[in-house]
Amino acid sequence: MQRLTAACYIHGMPLLVTEAIVLHAFDYLESSRIIRLLTREAGIQSVLARGARKSRGRYGSALDLFAEGSAQLYVKPNRELHNLAAFEITRSRNELAEEVGRFTAASTIAELALRFAGEEGSPQLYDTVSDVLDRIARALPLATIGTGLAGCWRIVSVVGFTPELSSCAVCHTPLRDNEDGAFSPAAGGAVCSTCRQVARRARRLPATARAAMTCWLAGEESVPLSDPEGRSHQRLLREFLDAHMPDDRPLRAFAVWEHERWSAA
Ligand SMILES: [Zn+2]
Repeated sequence: MQRLTAACYIHGMPLLVTEAIVLHAFDYLESSRIIRLLTREAGIQSVLARGARKSRGRYGSALDLFAEGSAQLYVKPNRELHNLAAFEITRSRNELAEEVGRFTAASTIAELALRFAGEEGSPQLYDTVSDVLDRIARALPLATIGTGLAGCWRIVSVVGFTPELSSCAVCHTPLRDNEDGAFSPAAGGAVCSTCRQVARRARRLPATARAAMTCWLAGEESVPLSDPEGRSHQRLLREFLDAHMPDDRPLRAFAVWEHERWSAA
């Protein structure tokens, strides 16, 4: 994709041209929408899309959830809401809205990006979120849990919370590949049998589950998961996020992703 970076002044307001992904959108007043974007150049930004409800002609489907494209923002200095001048779509990702497992997994990815990304541009986080959404869009319905888990762990890793999996997160003793052990969210990874006794709220972590997480962090996603394994992985990830999120607000999209599949089954 062509990378656009430009900052120039039009009508006295700086114009930011950046690649952007729509992570959240809601109606505002009669005719407009407020969009929360993950931008490559300036992290999370909120923009007002005037007239987006009245006429879809202006933006078309560009402002649908998870769409990606080139955004032009009139940046109001010291304000939290900027004006969206244009959005030229490059990927719509309609497939994400076509299947509930894909949609709930993608919504979880959006939630993590909104919570972890600040207003600093992070090309690595941007590219990871973009790639993860593409992978979920291509995932078969039965694979959406694994693909979503892989994506969540990659995002967690990019923002600096890579879990320790090859050695004990407390005493750093290397763990054997086939060694069943435990996982401590507070310690930040797998723990050996000795440290498990003192680690708070450590949970059993079979060697196969640890291997799956290692694959996901390496960008692989074709890890076969049974339903109970998928459920256990979601619970472990939730507990890890609870221990490391920047604030205490509940993860609503994650909760829907975690419970929708199993309550529908
Ligand atoms: Zn240890």
